Amino acid sequence: MFGKSKSPTVAIIGAGFGGLSAAITLQNAGIQDFTLFEASTRVGGTWWDNQYPGCEVDVPSHMYSFPFKRHDWTRTHAKQAELHAYLEETVVDYGLAPKIRLGVPVERAVWDESTHAWTLSLGHGETFVCHILISAVGFLNVPQYPSWPGLELFEGPKFHTARWEHQHDLAGRTVAIVGTGSSATQIVPTIAPIVKHLHLFQREPGWVLPKGDHDLTPRRAQEMAQPAALPLGADQGLLVDRARSSGAATSGSPARGSTRSARPPPSPTSTRSSPIVRI
Ligand SMILES: Cc1cc2nc3c(=O)[nH]c(=O)nc-3n(C[C@H](O)[C@H](O)[C@H](O)COP(=O)(O)OP(=O)(O)OC[C@H]3O[C@@H](n4cnc5c(N)ncnc54)[C@H](O)[C@@H]3O)c2cc1C
Repeated sequence: MFGKSKSPTVAIIGAGFGGLSAAITLQNAGIQDFTLFEASTRVGGTWWDNQYPGCEVDVPSHMYSFPFKRHDWTRTHAKQAELHAYLEETVVDYGLAPKIRLGVPVERAVWDESTHAWTLSLGHGETFVCHILISAVGFLNVPQYPSWPGLELFEGPKFHTARWEHQHDLAGRTVAIVGTGSSATQIVPTIAPIVKHLHLFQREPGWVLPKGDHDLTPRRAQEMAQPAALPLGADQGLLVDRARSSGAATSGSPARGSTRSARPPPSPTSTRSSPIVRI
């Protein structure tokens, strides 16, 4: 069925956590004939696209890791640079580079019932035929830009958090952030100390918990990297009940402890001195 090699030709779309994991799993299963197509110029997906100040993982780093790639994380919640370096290192460790085609978007995939094969149309007009197609295109990597009337008249820099424009120095500037999702809850406390004025616009208040993020000593990082050491604890700051019973005050900023895509619980009662804070 798969020709002389008796092994399928596989195409994977996307080289974020999902695509790299799929590639390594295939490799471990003895399937070597695979190619990853990545529209961006670097691997990493989410962790390459998002480079805003304060960008870091919302869940404990040791849980947000491949089971096959140990890493002694430097923080309970790793920053974007460390996460991206981890993914780049994974590519090297597993010899994936020759199988990744960067800057090559898959624009179309057509299944041929008679040959039992997919034909992919790639950027630049090329085609690629494969027996198996794995989609790892993610779900948060197409930024949504607002279409507010008059936005085009605003003369200052305006950009999306997922395409951060590093050339703008925010020090001493007046900055407006629209939205209070997980990205905003990371950016706001990071830039608040350096900007002149910071305006945060929200349509709907969200809930945040203190997440207890902090640096790890090398010894603690090693301990945490052991699979058996993963029961959730203070280092990971995840447990809602623990946060509730701790009575710990928040840092005074709304930025810590969010869970990406979490919906607010129904009761609106909270204060800044509670571990659960509505912003
Ligand atoms: C800022 C941010 C923080 C997050 N924090 C957390 C967290 O703390 N915990 C958690 O569990 N999740 C978090 N997420 C969700 C995160 O998206 C997933 O955890 C995970 O990284 C998704 O990996 P992925 O490989 O599925 O997708 P992505 O990382 O989105 O990778 C998909 C890749 O596919 C490529 N691609 C898409 N379409 C095509 C195409 N047609 N042709 C070629 N290439 C294509 C993209 O360029 C991209 O590189 C976060 C998301 C964001 C945006």
